[in-house]
Order: sequence, then C-alpha cells, then structure tokens
Amino acid sequence: MNLAPTEEQTALADRLHTLGATALGADIETREGTQQLQSGDWQRCAQAGVLGLPVPQEYGGLGLDALTCAIALEGLGGGCRDNGLMIAVGAHIWAVEMPLVAFGSAEQKQRYLPALCDGSKTGAHAITEAQAGSDALSLTATARREGDHYVLDGVKRFVTNAPIADVFLVYATVNPALGFTGVTAFLVERGQEGVTVESRYEKTGLRTAPWGEITLSGCRVPVSARLGAEKQGSRILGFTMGWERALILAPLLGTMRRQIDDCVRFARERAQFGRGIGRFQSVANRIVEMQIRLDEARLLTHRAAWDLVQGAPSYFAEAAQLRTSESAVETFLDAMQVYGGLGYTTETDVERNLRDALGTRISSGTSDMQRLVMAEKLGLTSRAPIRTPSRADDGAGRRVPSPPATAGGLRAHAR
Ligand SMILES: Cc1cc2nc3c(=O)[nH]c(=O)nc-3n(C[C@H](O)[C@H](O)[C@H](O)COP(=O)(O)OP(=O)(O)OC[C@H]3O[C@@H](n4cnc5c(N)ncnc54)[C@H](O)[C@@H]3O)c2cc1C
Repeated sequence: MNLAPTEEQTALADRLHTLGATALGADIETREGTQQLQSGDWQRCAQAGVLGLPVPQEYGGLGLDALTCAIALEGLGGGCRDNGLMIAVGAHIWAVEMPLVAFGSAEQKQRYLPALCDGSKTGAHAITEAQAGSDALSLTATARREGDHYVLDGVKRFVTNAPIADVFLVYATVNPALGFTGVTAFLVERGQEGVTVESRYEKTGLRTAPWGEITLSGCRVPVSARLGAEKQGSRILGFTMGWERALILAPLLGTMRRQIDDCVRFARERAQFGRGIGRFQSVANRIVEMQIRLDEARLLTHRAAWDLVQGAPSYFAEAAQLRTSESAVETFLDAMQVYGGLGYTTETDVERNLRDALGTRISSGTSDMQRLVMAEKLGLTSRAPIRTPSRADDGAGRRVPSPPATAGGLRAHAR
C-alpha cells in the first residue's frame, strides 16, 4: 500500500486550496444567518473540476481515483471556510454522481452526468423519512408500477441540496411487505408534477448547505427513471454509503489542518505570565492531541480510499467517517479552549467549525450506526464459527490485495 501523495496529487490539492482560500466562501458570516450558499460558488467549483472529480472523463469529469479525490478535497477544505458548501458538494458527488456512474443506464449517464459535472444541474440524495432514519431501509415511500410508469408517494426529510437540486435520487419500495428487499431507486426531476420541496428546519451548523423536505404525491415517472433494477435499492444504497462515508469528510481534514495551524500561531503569539501560552505544557499537549487526531483521521480516510481504488470497499469507510467526525468535534472544542474567551466569540472560526462538525456525527449515518456497521463487518453479530485472522487478511475476512506497481501515480489511480 502506497499512500504517499504524488507530485500531481499535491499540485491538485494546492490548486484547490488556493481556489478555496481565494474564490469560495465569501461572506460566510452573513450567509450563515440566511442559510444560503454564495451565489457563484457552485459554478466556480464546477469550473475547477471539483464537481466531477471521480466521474469518468467521457461524462465531463476528471476521472480521478478515490485516493486522489481524498487528497484534492482535503486541499479544497483547507482553503475554504464554508463547511456547508463542502458538504453540499460532497452529497452531490458521492450520493448522486457515484451511484449514477455505477448503476446508471447509458441514457441516464448521458442525460445527467455532464450537467452534474459542469454545475448546470445539482443533485440530492433522498432516503431519510420521519420514521426511517438510522433504519433507512424501513422506509415507507412507495413506488407503484402502472404500465410503463411508476407512481411515487412519500415524504423525505433532511435532504442536503433539496432546495436547489434539479435531480433527486429517491428511494421507495415497490412492495412494503418485502421489507428492505423491495427498496428501489429512482431519478426524479424538479418540476415534475407531484414533487414539492420545502425548507422546514433551521440547522445548528452547516447552515449554508441547503436542506429540505421533499414530498412526492402521485408523482408519475417513466420506468426509464428507475436507477438500476427493481429491488436493487439496498445494494445501491450500500454502494453509495461505501463511497460517501470514505470521502465526504475529506474537506473537513483540511478544516482541521487550518484550525491547528491557527492554534499554533495563536499559542505562540498570545502571552500570559510573561511567555507564549504554547510554552505551557497543558496547552501544547492539547494541540499535540489535535494533530494526532488529524493524522489518525487522514490515515483512515486514505486507507478507505485506497480500498476503493482496489475495488474492495471495507469497514475503513465507516472508520474514516466515525473518526473524522468525532475528531473534528474534539479538535474544535480543544481549539476553543486554546483561544480562551476569544474562542467563545464569533470573532474566530472556531465556534462555527464546532457547530458544523456536530452535524457530521449524524449525517451519512450517526456515530452509533458507524460502530454498528463496523461491528457487523467484524463478525460480532454473526452466528458463523469464529475465524482466526491470517497475516494476509485485514481482520474483517477480506484478503489484503497486493498494491499494483504504479499505485502511487495519478494516472494509476484513475478509473
Ligand atoms: C447535516 C445532515 C445532512 C443530512 N443529509 C441527508 C441527505 O442528504 N439525505 C438524506 O436522506 N438524509 C440526510 N440526513 C439525515 C441523516 O441521514 C439522518 O438524520 C441520520 O441517518 C439519523 O436518522 P434520524 O435523524 O432519524 O435519527 P434516529 O435514527 O432516530 O436516531 C436517533 C438516535 O438513536 C440512535 N440509534 C438509532 N438506531 C440505533 C441502533 N441500532 N444502535 C444504536 N443507536 C441507534 C442514533 O445513533 C441516534 O443517536 C442528513 C442529516 C444531517 C444532520
């Protein structure tokens, strides 16, 4: 396994860092209040290739592999102070584009992917319902087949990008009696009869990421709007979560990096008792722990991405989501402490970063659910005989693949 960034990967991360720092997230303090994305930011991300990072070039993307995407997005997040924009972009890429790449028909890919990459269309992923959150596949939205159409009914909530999205990837069941095996995915377009979108809730953090509720009421979509086969929804969701959990928080690694750099600078400059507070061991130790948490979260993210590059998604996706989100919360709490009273004001980014990070312990599955999925993948909930892990095995029953000879190169990662 070679996780050292190549020159091309580093150059891409630097380019996106500059984009984030100079062209994205303006007026974040004001827009937080109004819960709005900066007009033009979405298009600037599209022009820089961000919206199509992993999408094959034939559909207008950059065709980059998962590890290169992780490195690039950390760069972007390191520069961009708008964590809400980063989550909105992540939902668009990982929960709409990637399932389209993997399960879309040729016609669906042609219809949606180029527009999703060039920013002329925005995607939203709609599964959560009032009674189906962590137990997402117990959803009650229905898809009734009528000739060459389906009629969709149901209400989805907490959907990132819903207020601005042009295409919704909606999960509904073709037969409630089948449980999760009846779940099927559909591509529903804004403006279709029977689709309404509302913004009902104010969020604690990530406030610039548009969020809304989608109501489907007798919404007729052609059979060609179904993504994948009938009853393939749980498989599509599993695939999507493997990518989303591995990569959606990669920009937050950059935010943590920036926060640590700011804390080091502050701890050197701020003097009490006649010396820089960074010389007090308890302050220094706090910042050292912040750094260790960042390194852990990055290693897990890169390992999860590496496994995706190998075509072997693993429990590292859940580990990356879990450790990055929880580490971010701890790190921003620590940063608040380092800054003292100033950290508790809105003068620094600390309190906003903290509020933003809290949401990442819930989105893409709560921390409890990440642990539950990992426990399942480790065999803790299985009745099968206990197996002793071998050396060529990652402890979760999956053989560790040998890295390809050219694995470090940008091209070698391209799918
Ligand atoms: C910022 C943000 C963005 C989001 N974006 C989207 C989106 O784009 N599309 C979408 O469809 N949804 C989205 N969601 C919704 C999100 O997926 C759900 O909120 C999440 O899955 C939890 O569901 P819930 O809110 O119904 O909580 P519940 O499932 O009711 O959970 C409540 C509590 O019970 C715990 N719990 C539940 N079951 C178990 C269990 N088996 N073991 C242990 N603990 C358990 C949970 O961990 C939690 O602490 C988003 C949420 C947030 C916060």
